[in-house]
Amino acid sequence: MSNSQFDADVLVIGGGPGGSTVAWDLARNGVDVLVVDGAEFPRVKLCAGWITPQILDALELDPEQYPHTISPFSSAVLWVGDTPCRTDYRRPVSYGIIRAQFDNFLLQRALDAGARFLNENVGSVESNADAFVVTTREGSTYRAPLAIGAGGSKDPIRRKLTTHAAEERMVVTLESETRVGADRIREHTPYYEVPELFLEPDFNGYAWYFTKGDYLNIGIGRLGDPRIRDAHPRFMQQLRDLGRLTPELEADLTKFRGHPYKIYDSVPNQAHGERFLLVGDAAGLARHYSGEGIRPAVESARDAAEVARTALERGRFAGADLEGYASKLTERYGPQKAPRFDPTRWIPHSWQSRIVQGICRNDRLRRDWVFGKVFLFDPEAAAS
Ligand SMILES: Cc1cc2nc3c(=O)[nH]c(=O)nc-3n(C[C@H](O)[C@H](O)[C@H](O)COP(=O)(O)OP(=O)(O)OC[C@H]3O[C@@H](n4cnc5c(N)ncnc54)[C@H](O)[C@@H]3O)c2cc1C
Repeated sequence: MSNSQFDADVLVIGGGPGGSTVAWDLARNGVDVLVVDGAEFPRVKLCAGWITPQILDALELDPEQYPHTISPFSSAVLWVGDTPCRTDYRRPVSYGIIRAQFDNFLLQRALDAGARFLNENVGSVESNADAFVVTTREGSTYRAPLAIGAGGSKDPIRRKLTTHAAEERMVVTLESETRVGADRIREHTPYYEVPELFLEPDFNGYAWYFTKGDYLNIGIGRLGDPRIRDAHPRFMQQLRDLGRLTPELEADLTKFRGHPYKIYDSVPNQAHGERFLLVGDAAGLARHYSGEGIRPAVESARDAAEVARTALERGRFAGADLEGYASKLTERYGPQKAPRFDPTRWIPHSWQSRIVQGICRNDRLRRDWVFGKVFLFDPEAAAS
């Protein structure tokens, strides 16, 4: 498929789960792919590392064969105020992975399938009549008929070649992940390898205390809200009060850092254009309420790979030729428009608060709605 006027059939910007999955899919189908990522892998990616089983299907990955930390979660605890509400399952409904390991594994798999990797930072991007052109800050220029933007929320194609609505909202986060040792974690929590979620008092997000093998991951995410700097100390105090954090443990934690990303809500995202497709966070696909973004990154990567293969076969890369990708995303995640009926507009906040608390405390509603619909844990697998 390679043509001498091009450096690759497809340029992929970013080697996270979205970029490495699209590269893996294309490379094993004979497409010449060049992945460009400014980070040296394995690299740290801020993330709780919580994945649902469907992502393993999309990756064609058997958790038994995965060679790194993968903690199966068969229970989850939702804290509503001071009350821990626990739901148990007969089988794992989600898993905990370490992003540095997981992303490196996926990238390596793409390289094993034949994709090439360039460790450089993309500085500028241009889509013209002849090619998609990527220039790196290190000074190299690469041309291909098609590019895939998988650079997360700071993706250069997203930033330079797409338009954004003023009302676009991001999830704002603060997180720390530290390898502290399983025994030490067990001394601090009765819920080892049971994810604990802490609903924010105004329901505009949640915090978490995740234990995965030797790793402790603590974080908080709020939707479109810079007041996270106030929410974070409140949450840390709650963890101290619960005994989850002692001064010695706290002193060893890695520094809390933030990273914003867009969720898939009623504000439309542009996910394709002339000679390009965007996947994962670059397309703003993370799930509303839960903030789950790894699975949409992988699913959109599989969809993008299919559309890219067809475009390469036909030799057509105009925005209209790539329209099928937008349709696939809408089919998967629904149309991006404001709901016709939004009860939160007319129900007073104090009532909403009581309703949400009631739902979270009720075993059946928590299983079916909160864990079932928001976090996608299969309610059929619930223990009772
Ligand atoms: C604190 C926090 C917790 C989260 N927890 C979860 C969770 O538990 N479960 C879940 O499913 N999702 C979670 N998410 C969301 C999830 O991390 C993202 O949705 C996911 O990483 C998106 O994958 P991606 O491949 O699109 O982008 P990324 O994983 O962000 O990968 C993008 C890659 O592009 C590279 N790149 C960017 N710009 C350039 C450039 N100019 N040149 C070269 N390379 C570039 C970067 O180095 C990076 O490697 C969390 C996010 C945050 C911030």
